[in-house]
Amino acid sequence: MNLSIIGTGYVGLVQGACFADTGNRVICMDIDERKIKALKKGIIPIYEPGLEEMVQKNAQEGRLEFTTSLKIAVQNSDVIFLCLPTPQSEDGSADLTHVLEVADEIGKDANGEKLVVSKSTVPVGTADKIRGIVRKKSKYPVEVASNPEFLKEGTALQDSLKPDRIVIGSRSKKAIEILKELYEPFVRTGNPILVMDERSAEMTKYAANAFLAMKISFVNELANLCEQVGADIDWVRRGIAADPRIGKLFLFPGVGYGGSCLPKDVKALIKTSEANDRDPRLLRAVDEVNENQKMVLVSKLASRFRNRLRGKVVAIWGLSFKPQTDDVREAPSLVMIESLLQSGVTVRAHDPIAISAVKARFGKRVQFFESSYDALKGVDALLVVTEWNEFRRPDFTRMKRLMKHPIILDGRNIYDPKELKEMGFEYYGVGRGR
Ligand code: NAD
Repeated sequence: MNLSIIGTGYVGLVQGACFADTGNRVICMDIDERKIKALKKGIIPIYEPGLEEMVQKNAQEGRLEFTTSLKIAVQNSDVIFLCLPTPQSEDGSADLTHVLEVADEIGKDANGEKLVVSKSTVPVGTADKIRGIVRKKSKYPVEVASNPEFLKEGTALQDSLKPDRIVIGSRSKKAIEILKELYEPFVRTGNPILVMDERSAEMTKYAANAFLAMKISFVNELANLCEQVGADIDWVRRGIAADPRIGKLFLFPGVGYGGSCLPKDVKALIKTSEANDRDPRLLRAVDEVNENQKMVLVSKLASRFRNRLRGKVVAIWGLSFKPQTDDVREAPSLVMIESLLQSGVTVRAHDPIAISAVKARFGKRVQFFESSYDALKGVDALLVVTEWNEFRRPDFTRMKRLMKHPIILDGRNIYDPKELKEMGFEYYGVGRGR
């Protein structure tokens, strides 16, 4: 099939590469000229394991092309996937500007029958809006479908090659058949393709992300309580996770969820609820707990130094919102760094791959180090913010030699408190007793 992908970011590039890999001809379009120029040379603008090889292979074999022209993309494809950003507006709702503007252009550029598929996370009713706009401008028949994306950054390629489920929301038989055919190679193992109405498909994506966010805020709230009453959240977590109704995944306490999806999607669902005269108490609590959680390490640090943080030097290990990605959107590290800087702390930061994104934001206000150990020289404390594998078994003897004060605030509970104490570290985890 001839496909185009509009918006070549985390979702668009991964999906485009996967569709090309199963034999389709795919044109990936983006307004970012630098990104497209780099992609044409085989340079991948994001970090995603395995993606570079797949993009290069399919580009060399002529199935994957890149352009900045929406017209070229639209006129050379039958199915058009919208993988555009839907960021948070000032009031918390999803900003649909990119999606609706592109829908308008697609309508103008259409040179034949088209299927427009939204993979962007969009509020209920957006497929109707897209349909209205495109059909108004196009001289040809246009169908619209909602096909939300569930990939996770860091494992995006594997998630797309073997999705847990494919959700298709459409009222058009033809659209459903086309999408089923496209996704069939990815669900050979029997994972379901769920066909439903558009509104349910749009809501499914928000429901999934809100539920995941709720799990994290739940465990974080309990972690904070465990700390006060002298219980250990790690044991409590295991104790509840053994119940299959609760499950083992996504129940780790930490410094709050971040990233380009959970924070904005919870907020957008709150807005949708309010717009429908509902009081989204649970969702609001999920969001509030998360905002507070981003500050737990800084609060612990402040109380350790009796609120005298000015002049202290602190190392941060991990800047991306989770391991295996360079994405720092809404990363808890940013909130911590800002707060530390405002308290007069010198911040020495390290991340295996996300330094440049954070540098662009803080510039010279933060010192960045390519080596995790260099970041530790002369520091009063280390904050472990992202659980990259390289932080799990570091050389503690070397660390202790480098640090002025051997204080570790472990925001991901990756170290054994007893072991660290025996080695002479002062250790603070999240929710691990008194
Ligand atoms: P992204 O920011 O990585 O990529 C979006 C791309 O669209 C960018 O390259 C940008 O330059 C481009 N763009 C912006 N305006 C454009 C326009 N008018 N025409 C063409 N290109 C344009 O975003 P993403 O993370 O891929 O997310 C895309 C959508 O998918 C969002 O709705 C998001 O909520 C959803 N989603 C994201 C993930 C994820 O993990 N990143 C997972 C599931 C769903």
